[in-house]
Amino acid sequence: MASNRRIVLKSRPEGWVGPENFELVESAPPTPQPGDVVVRNLWLSVDPYMRGRMRGAKSYIPGFALGSVIQGGGIGQVTASRHASYREGDIVQGMLGWEDISLVPEGRGLMKPDPEAAPLSYYLGVLGMPGMTAWYGMLEIGQPKAGETVLVSAASGAVGQIAGQIAKFKGARVVGSAGRDDKVAYLRDELGFDAAFNYRTAASLGQALEQTCPQGIDVYFENVGGALLDAALLKVKPHARIVACGMISQYNLGEAEGVRNLFNIVANRVRLQGFIVSDHFDRLPEFLGQMTGWLKAGQIRYREDVAEGLEATPAAFIRMLKGENFGKQVVHLADPA
Ligand code: NDP
Repeated sequence: MASNRRIVLKSRPEGWVGPENFELVESAPPTPQPGDVVVRNLWLSVDPYMRGRMRGAKSYIPGFALGSVIQGGGIGQVTASRHASYREGDIVQGMLGWEDISLVPEGRGLMKPDPEAAPLSYYLGVLGMPGMTAWYGMLEIGQPKAGETVLVSAASGAVGQIAGQIAKFKGARVVGSAGRDDKVAYLRDELGFDAAFNYRTAASLGQALEQTCPQGIDVYFENVGGALLDAALLKVKPHARIVACGMISQYNLGEAEGVRNLFNIVANRVRLQGFIVSDHFDRLPEFLGQMTGWLKAGQIRYREDVAEGLEATPAAFIRMLKGENFGKQVVHLADPA
C-alpha cells in the first residue's frame, strides 16, 4: 500500500460524540524496527469504553491524545515482522488502530486467534473482550442459581446477549431490557430469555420490572446505569448481586445522573461489585476453551452488526453509543490475503 489511511482524534466531544471529532488522514505505511510487527487490519471493534478514552481524563485506561490514531481491539494479518514469534501471513489479534496498517511495537499484546475455531470477527465479540466480560461478570460476580431471577440490561448487545445466555445455562429465569422492539423480540424468541421489555417505550420502568420480575431480582447484570439502576434497586431481593459492568447511559452526559434508591443495598444486604475484565485476562485460556465449546455445540447464539470500510468506523462507533447497533458492532476492512 502506497499510503496508510488513519482516523485520528481531532477534538474531544462535549456530550455526544460526532463525526467532527474524527479526521481521516493519510501517511506513509510504517516501517518496522527490530522487534516490531506490521499488521494489515481486517476487522476493528468499536466498544463503549472508547468513549471514556476520548475524554482524556485519567481513568483505568489512558485517554487518547489529540491528533493520535484511535486505538481499539482489532484483527489483522502480518505483512512484515521483525519479531521472532510472528511471520508474514500470520493472523493476529490485539490493540490495533483505526487505520489500514498498524505498527505493533515489539508485537506487544498480540495473540494468534484460531481461524479454524470460529469466524475471525468473533474474536472481537463472543470469543473476545465482550464475551469474556459476560462470562467473568456473570459467573464470578453474579453467580446465578437455578430458579433465581437475573436481569440483564443492554441485553441484545455484545456483552448482554452472552451474559443472559450464560445465566440460562445455570437454570436462572432471565429477563432482558433493550431499546427497540426487534431487539426485545430477539431476546425472547431467539435467545430464549424468559421475558424482555423495551425500556424506551415502557409506561414506567417500575411497572416493566414489576411485570417481568414479579418475584424480584436476584442478579442484576448492569450495563446501563441511570434510571434503570434506580428502578432495579427497588426490586432487588435480599442478598441480590449487582454486577456493575458498565453504565453506558451516562457516558455522553456532561454530568452523571443521581441514583436515589441506594439504601436498598443496605436493607437487602445487596452485593454491588464493579470489575474491569482486563484484570482477569489470566483466565483467557479457560474462557476461550469454554466459550469455543459452547459455540461449537450450538449452545450459544451470537449476533453481530457489521459495518463496511475504514471510513465507516466513526459512524459505527456513534451508532453503537446511540443504540442503533443490533448485536456486537464490528467493522470489516479487508479479508486475509
Ligand atoms: P453493546 O453492544 O451493548 O452496545 C451498547 C448498547 O448500549 C446499545 O446498543 C444500546 O442498546 C445501549 N444503550 C446506549 N445508550 C443507552 C442508554 N442511554 N440507556 C440504556 N441503554 C443504552 O455494548 P457492549 O456490550 O460492548 O457494552 C455493554 C456495557 O458493558 C457497556 O456499559 C460497557 O461499558 C460495558 N463493558 C464493561 C466491561 C468491563 O470490563 N467492565 C468490558 C466491556 C464492556 P439498547 O438498544 O438496548 O439501548
